[in-house]
Amino acid sequence: MNKITIPRGAKAIVQGLRYANHEAYVVGGCVRDSLLGLVPKDWDICTSATPEEMKEYFTRCSVRTIDTGLKRGTITADMERSGKFEVTTFRIDGDYSDNRHPDSVEFTDSIYKDLSRRDFTINAMAYNQAGLVDPFHGREDLDNSVIRCVGNPDDRFSEDALRILRAMRFASTYGFVIEENTSQSIHRNKRLLKNIAAERIQSELCKMLCGKGILNVLLEYNDVITTIIPEMQPCVGFDQNNRFHEYNVYEHIVHAVSNYDGDDIVVKVSLLLHDIGKPHCYTADHKGGHFYGHGVFSHDISEKVLTRLRFDNKSKSDILELILHHDANIEPTPKTVRRWLNKIGEKQFVRLLNIRMADIQAHAKDTQESRIERCAALWVILEEVIKSNQCFKMKDLAIDGHDVMNLLHLSEGKAVGVVLNDVLEKVINGELPNERVALVSYLVKEKYQEVVSNE
Ligand code: ATP
Ligand code: MG
Repeated sequence: MNKITIPRGAKAIVQGLRYANHEAYVVGGCVRDSLLGLVPKDWDICTSATPEEMKEYFTRCSVRTIDTGLKRGTITADMERSGKFEVTTFRIDGDYSDNRHPDSVEFTDSIYKDLSRRDFTINAMAYNQAGLVDPFHGREDLDNSVIRCVGNPDDRFSEDALRILRAMRFASTYGFVIEENTSQSIHRNKRLLKNIAAERIQSELCKMLCGKGILNVLLEYNDVITTIIPEMQPCVGFDQNNRFHEYNVYEHIVHAVSNYDGDDIVVKVSLLLHDIGKPHCYTADHKGGHFYGHGVFSHDISEKVLTRLRFDNKSKSDILELILHHDANIEPTPKTVRRWLNKIGEKQFVRLLNIRMADIQAHAKDTQESRIERCAALWVILEEVIKSNQCFKMKDLAIDGHDVMNLLHLSEGKAVGVVLNDVLEKVINGELPNERVALVSYLVKEKYQEVVSNE
C-alpha cells in the first residue's frame, strides 16, 4: 500500500497549488518515513510553481510567507495552527565545483528532474492525492532495506561529499545495507569529506551514532571514520593482548557504542572516544598488554577532536569528564555513590554508569559477569540514594550558611564555606546524619566548642 496520510496544513498547500494549476507534492524524508510506518519529523513540499507564483498564490489565500531561501526556490508557508511548511520550486542543481554547494540552481517544471537531483532512491519519492511518484524505485529499495544513490554514485558523492555520511546515517538509523556500487564509491570518495564543514560532519555523525545499525556501519566504514577522525586510525586493528579483551581497540570501541541503546548523544560520543588514547599508552609485561592511565590520553585527544568537530562547550565538557572517569573503579556502596553524585552530579553519574555497562559488555565474554554485577549494584544503590533523598550536595544539607553564621557568630566569608564543606563531607561519608538537630549540635558542641565557649 502506498497511501500516505498527509497532515492538514501540508495537504491544504498541496491541494491548493494543484487547484491553481501547478503541480505539488510532499517529497523526500516525509514520504520515506511514512512508507516505513514512522512519524515524519517535517513535511517538505515541492511544486512546479516558481517562487513568485507561490507568493502570489499564498497572498491570494492570505497565507503569510517567509523567504527562507528564495535563491534556491524555498519559501515557508505559515499555516498558523496547522504548522509551518517549506515549499520549494522543482529545481535542477548546477555543477558542484567545491563538493559542497551547487554553483547555481535552475528551476524546472519537471518533478522527475527534481527527484533526480536528490541523494538516495529512498529520498527521491514524491506523493500527492494522485499517488506515488517513484522513478528510481525507492519503494522497492525501502522494502529491501537498501540505500542506493540516485544515478552514478561517484558523481553524486563528488557533487556533495556530505552524502557519504548521510548514506551511513540512513543505513544506521534504519538498519539498512548500502548497495554494493554505492558502498564501493563511498570508500573511493571518502577523501572529499575534507571539503565539508565540521558542523555538518558533526551533525551527521551524531545522528549516525544513535542508529540501531551503528555496529555494522562503523565496522564496514572504519576508513570513513578515520577520515573524519584521523586520531582513531591507530586504534584500528590494535591488538590489546589482554585476557579482558577479545576485540582489538577499534572493534571494542564500536561494540561499546552499539551496546548503549539510549539516545543520549553525550553518552554515544563518549563511548566513541573513550579508548582513543589506548594505543598511545600501551605497555606489556608477562601478564599481557596494559593501558595504564588511558583515560587521560583519551581525554586529551578527544578534546582536540571535539573542538575540531565544533561540539558546543557544554557537550564537550560533559563528554570529556565522562571519558576521563570512564574507567574509574567505583565501589558499590551508598557512600561511594553519594561521593560521585557530589563530584559530577546525578545526570553525569547516570551517564557514567551507562558508559561502564556498555564498555564492560564489549569485553571478553568470560570476564564480564562479576563486573556487570557490580555495575548493576551501583544502579540499585543510586536509585535508593535518590529515592530516599539522601544528601550529596550543599543544597540538600539540613543546615545552611545562615545557620553557620548565627551559631558560630561568623560573618559572611570563606570560613562559612569551609565549615559547610566539612559538614557535607561528614554527611556524605555517613559520619553524621543529615538532620538539623544533629548538625546543629555537631557544630556547637563538637567541632567548634571554643567558639561557643567564648560567648
Ligand atoms: P531527516 O529525517 O534528517 O529530516 P531527510 O531525508 O528529510 O532526513 P533533509 O535534510 O530534511 O533530510 O532533506 C530533505 C530531502 O532533501 C531529502 O529527503 C533528500 O531528498 C534531499 N536532500 C537533503 N540533503 C541532500 C543532499 N545532501 N543531497 C541530495 N539531496 C538531499
Ligand atoms: Mg527532513
